[in-house]
Amino acid sequence: MQKEKLYGKILDELIDVTRRVGLPGFAAKQIADWLYKKDIQSIMEMTNISKKKRELLSAEYEIGLYDPVSVTESTDGTKKYLYKVLNDKYIETAFIPDKARATICLSSQAGCKMGCIFCLTGKQGFHGNLSSNEILNQFRSLPEYSKLTNIVYMGMGEPLDNLPEVLKSLDILISDWGYGWSPTRITVSTIGMINSIKEFLNKSRCHLAISLHSPFDEERRRLMPVQKTNTLKEFLEIIRNFDFNNQRRISFEYILFKGLNDTPIHIKELARMLNGIKCRINLIRYHSIPGLQYQSPDIKTINSFKEALNAKGILTTIRASRGVDIGAACGLLSTIEQNKIKKGC
Ligand code: SF4
Repeated sequence: MQKEKLYGKILDELIDVTRRVGLPGFAAKQIADWLYKKDIQSIMEMTNISKKKRELLSAEYEIGLYDPVSVTESTDGTKKYLYKVLNDKYIETAFIPDKARATICLSSQAGCKMGCIFCLTGKQGFHGNLSSNEILNQFRSLPEYSKLTNIVYMGMGEPLDNLPEVLKSLDILISDWGYGWSPTRITVSTIGMINSIKEFLNKSRCHLAISLHSPFDEERRRLMPVQKTNTLKEFLEIIRNFDFNNQRRISFEYILFKGLNDTPIHIKELARMLNGIKCRINLIRYHSIPGLQYQSPDIKTINSFKEALNAKGILTTIRASRGVDIGAACGLLSTIEQNKIKKGC
C-alpha cells in the first residue's frame, strides 16, 4: 500500500492527520514544525511525539521527499533539474543564481493544456496537475535549497489552472507555521485565466506576473489560444479594479519575436493599454525551439523597445537570458526525457 505523504500538507490537513492517529490537535503544529522548519527526513525524528504515535503515523504516512533524477548545468551557473512525477512524467525546475539573489523556478503541472504556440511545454500536451507535495518538493529537494532568496512559479504548466494545489503550496511557504517566507519574494505567473485571477488575488499576497506577448487581441490569440475565452480587456479590467497595496507587484511578461510584436505600433498600444496601471514590463528574448520559425530580435531592437516604453512612462526592463547553452526554453529537457521513454531508450 502506498503511504500518504505528509510533506505538502497545510495545517488543516495536518489536523486531520492528528485526528486519524489519535493525537491532540496541537500536534499538527508540531508536525508542521518538523516538516517545514526542522527539515526532517523521517517521521521517527519527530521526537516530541510519543514513539507509539510515531509508529502509528509511520504505518500510514511517509514524509514524501525525493531527489531530482538529473541536473544540467549552464556555464552561467544556471542549473536545470529534472524531477519524476506522476509515475512516468518529467518536470523541470530551474535554479538561477544572480549575485546576491538565488531564484528557483517551479513547475506547477506536468505538460500544459494551454497550447501557447511558442512553448515546448505546451507541445507536450497535458499530463496532470502537480500536488502541493510535488510543487514544494522541487523547492525542498533542490541541492541549493538553503541559498534560495526568491521563488517564481514560471516553470512548466499554468499555475492558475492548478490553483488549489498552488494556493496550498503558497500557504506553506508564507505561513508562520510553514516556511515563513515573505510573499514579496514569491511571484506567480499566469497567461491570464479570468476565472482564477480574482481568486488568486483574494487568497494570496504574492506578486503576479501576466504573460502578455501582444497588446492586440487577434495577434495574441494566434500566439496564445487562451485569448479566445480570456481576453486582454477582461483581465485588465480585473487588474484595474483590484486594490493592490504598495507591497504587491504586478508585472507583464513580454516575449519579443522578431518582426511580429516588436514594432512601434506595439509600443504605442502597450503604453495606451497599460496607462494608469502601476506595473512593470519584463521583456524576454525569445529562445528558439526546434521546428518553430520564430526568431529573436537583435539586442539593439530589444533595447530600443525598452527605451521607448520607459519614455512613455511604462517601467520596462529586459530579463537577462540565462542557461542558453542548456536549453533555456522551458520544456526542452523534459521533452527529450519523455521522448526517450517513448522510444524505449
Ligand atoms: S507558455 Fe505557459 S501556459 Fe503557455 S503552454 Fe507554455 S507552460 Fe502552458
